[in-house]
Amino acid sequence: MNETLSYVNPGPDSPWTTYLSQVDRVLPYLGPLARWAETLRRPKRALVVDVPIELDDGRVAHFEGFRVQHNLSRGPGKGGVRYHPDVTLEEVMALAAWMSIKNAAVNLPYGGAKGGIRVDPKQLSTKELEKLTRRYTSEIGIIIGPMQDIPAPDVNTNAQVMAWMMDTYSMNVGATATGVVTGKPIHLGGSLGRVKATGRGVFVTGREAARRIGLNLDGARVAVQGFGNVGSSAAELFVQAGSRIVAIQDHSGTIVNEHGFDFAELMPHVRATGGVAGFKGGDAAPAESFWDVKCEVLIPAALEGQINADRANRITAKLVLEGANGPTLPVADDILGDRGVLVVPDVICNAGGVTVSYFEWVQDFSSFFWTEDEINVRLDKIMVGALKTIWDTADRHGVSLRTATFAVACERILMARQERGLYP
Ligand code: GLU
Repeated sequence: MNETLSYVNPGPDSPWTTYLSQVDRVLPYLGPLARWAETLRRPKRALVVDVPIELDDGRVAHFEGFRVQHNLSRGPGKGGVRYHPDVTLEEVMALAAWMSIKNAAVNLPYGGAKGGIRVDPKQLSTKELEKLTRRYTSEIGIIIGPMQDIPAPDVNTNAQVMAWMMDTYSMNVGATATGVVTGKPIHLGGSLGRVKATGRGVFVTGREAARRIGLNLDGARVAVQGFGNVGSSAAELFVQAGSRIVAIQDHSGTIVNEHGFDFAELMPHVRATGGVAGFKGGDAAPAESFWDVKCEVLIPAALEGQINADRANRITAKLVLEGANGPTLPVADDILGDRGVLVVPDVICNAGGVTVSYFEWVQDFSSFFWTEDEINVRLDKIMVGALKTIWDTADRHGVSLRTATFAVACERILMARQERGLYP
């Protein structure tokens, strides 16, 4: 059996290496289904596309685009598209694989997929961004579709990007296909509550985990890394629950305030300047000191690989809520576990976004739209139920919440694989 793939060469801290080691840890709990486990260690389909666009100054620029469908046993591919200068095939493979686990963990009828373009979108004008998005959509159009694979927002993509994707796909197939992407603007078939759904899910799983370990969120100190859609929405809900946000780190800098930031002042500053740096209601701090900040709850909501061994030894939080995908390296996971820090893993913690994406897709198919209250109540119920199943599994096997989430999800994926059987 081939254990390694010839088309990538991931280093030790690569997200794909992290994902493979997470799979290794679940193998003892899969029973006879372990026969099918190799399927988890390779993407079903990986598409690499050239994305050429004419820049505003007349030059032609080429970008690398990817769409990976990791597993489609349980349904169409589902997962976001990110625009970032560090995007690579192996990163997108890992992100697609985590979508397979995440979607199965909350029992959505989806496989896992992810896309990305290796680009710094801040260097492009709006017109250039639109051209990039449209050409990319057209290139991956051969494998996406409402019943094939449904993209959504991720790092540096938003409702406007989804509107361009929806329009491009619809023009190419000659029919309005709202269900081809989720995270769309509301008047184009988007869902109420989608923008804040990932942050809401982080809060809901955090609230449940805090209750179980006897941590009172009222007055708890919270540190947040990444203050985009996920970090800011989650932080706001923690503030509403009485917590204090004592440290925030984003691409612009790190700010601290042991008394907690005033959100009514912070949010307009972030909207106006694009980041937390320079906010008068807190003090600037050196980037690395973020990991030493005294707090009860830590929310990594930025990129992969942020919590390494050194940082894991310094974190003071009792509870780590992974808003980002893949923020903790396996070695750091072990250190946190040994130190008694509870980690609610990405594959359940940030599943609120894709759960409301699923609601959006269902609403698009039925052309019947739900109220925001209905969305939030259903989201809460799904997240609480999924976390309970995972917690019971963790208790039964005596494993971490991450391994338990993988156990629940991989069993569902591999059961579908087995029942469908090998074709031909
Ligand atoms: N990008 C989000 C995630 O990583 C959402 C994906 C989706 O809604 O399909 O879960």
